[in-house]
Amino acid sequence: MDIKKYDYIIIGSGPVAYKMAIGLKNSNKKILVVENDRFGGICPNYGCEPKIFLEGAVKTVLTARQLLNKGISVAAEIDWQQLMKYKKETFAPYPKNAEKGMQNNNADTITGTASFVNEHTLMINDEQYYGSKIIIATGQKPNKLPIKGTELTYSSNDVLSMEHLPKRVTFIGGGFVSMELATILNAAGSHVEIIEYGDRPLQPFYSAHVKDVVSEMKAQGIIFHVNQSVSEVVKVDSYYSVKTAQGLIVDTDLVVDASGRIPNIERLNLKNAGIEYDRGGILVNEFLETNVKGVYAAGDVVSKDPRIAPKLTTTAHFEGEYLSENLESNNPVPIKYPIIGTASFTFPQIAQAGMNVDEALNNPDYNVITHDLTPDFFYTGTNDYNAKLTLIFDKTNKLVGASEVSQTAADDINNFVDVIGLNLNTDSWKKEFLPIFPALAYKVRDLI
Ligand SMILES: Cc1cc2nc3c(=O)[nH]c(=O)nc-3n(C[C@H](O)[C@H](O)[C@H](O)COP(=O)(O)OP(=O)(O)OC[C@H]3O[C@@H](n4cnc5c(N)ncnc54)[C@H](O)[C@@H]3O)c2cc1C
Repeated sequence: MDIKKYDYIIIGSGPVAYKMAIGLKNSNKKILVVENDRFGGICPNYGCEPKIFLEGAVKTVLTARQLLNKGISVAAEIDWQQLMKYKKETFAPYPKNAEKGMQNNNADTITGTASFVNEHTLMINDEQYYGSKIIIATGQKPNKLPIKGTELTYSSNDVLSMEHLPKRVTFIGGGFVSMELATILNAAGSHVEIIEYGDRPLQPFYSAHVKDVVSEMKAQGIIFHVNQSVSEVVKVDSYYSVKTAQGLIVDTDLVVDASGRIPNIERLNLKNAGIEYDRGGILVNEFLETNVKGVYAAGDVVSKDPRIAPKLTTTAHFEGEYLSENLESNNPVPIKYPIIGTASFTFPQIAQAGMNVDEALNNPDYNVITHDLTPDFFYTGTNDYNAKLTLIFDKTNKLVGASEVSQTAADDINNFVDVIGLNLNTDSWKKEFLPIFPALAYKVRDLI
């Protein structure tokens, strides 16, 4: 069999491949990107991008409701079908453009599923491809709970392109994906319930700020059930019943299994190459190399500590940039992750960067200060009555962590990421920066 040879084969065309193709553009190396679904991967097709696009209408509507009788006299409403039509038109050209973008960066592309034949040979569409270096960037896929009726559940992928809005929707799981989609569907008019296994949703975020998000979502009409383990989904006439081991029964028109995401390794035949992995994904060293020399993994498919490298597009971009620089370097250096901000685009949003506040509160080496942001007219103007910012300082008075709950928390926390990441002397920061006033970033000056 004729084997096609490449210097680099990247499996998966998501954010890792996007950054690698840009980084390797002028390397004169032969590069192949393989994709078995839509080019661009999860983020622009089923994740961050369609979500943030929908958030545009959702946030407008919820902010208008927040200002009802405070300057707004008629509340806005979402027309789901119209919004979905607009979304589909906007996103339809994306996969083709993403593929073309890779080709413009001098990479070959192919549609098909890659699986290992041996350490450096892949089978794609019944043809063999040899890669001197292979990068596994196959991401994650939605988990399917091993329960009776699991085949009746939808995934987050389905929700973001649903033509018709169900009257009642039930989410299994209270992670950030579930909380964001719940916010969108509830704002659009669905009755939403969330069933969470733990004692609160959004586990990685600061518990006091999560409490504020949950109480606001409850005020919007969303119902939370915590400490519940879903055991069964049953179809009853034209609706579904979700049952838990604790005896809860929720009747609903659509069940979304948002119980987590699992590494996309099933179809790779990793055993043919002897590549090691665990429940969290593929095991790599500090150069993102697997136990097989010349085979690397990056992005969501990698098993890693979520506190240092959360499974996000930003991390995948960073790892793609790292690999394209390092694999072409004569002096490779281990990967060192920057401060990575994380957020849940709920209403209000919750965001954090650096040290976790719950951890800092239990450690006498840190000073934790909470600021009520509501008297600031920026927040009063949108009636953002939950707005709170918590900052963590170390013994030398350097900012090491930040968490915020507010309608603008994601953008707000971004203003603190560089201060934490650069380990800045705040006096010199103040002498070099004067942000725009009145805008979100200006407050950094007074608070650090
Ligand atoms: C609903 C949702 C919202 C999100 N929101 C955010 C957010 O706000 N901010 C953020 O930073 N991140 C967000 N994320 C996470 C983000 O989408 C991922 O972290 C990111 O896409 C990971 O990139 P990746 O390159 O590792 O792989 P992916 O983007 O997962 O791409 C991997 C690709 O590989 C393909 N593939 C898999 N197996 C094979 C195979 N054997 N052969 C060929 N191709 C294969 C897959 O079909 C997929 O297209 C969100 C995710 C979801 C689901």
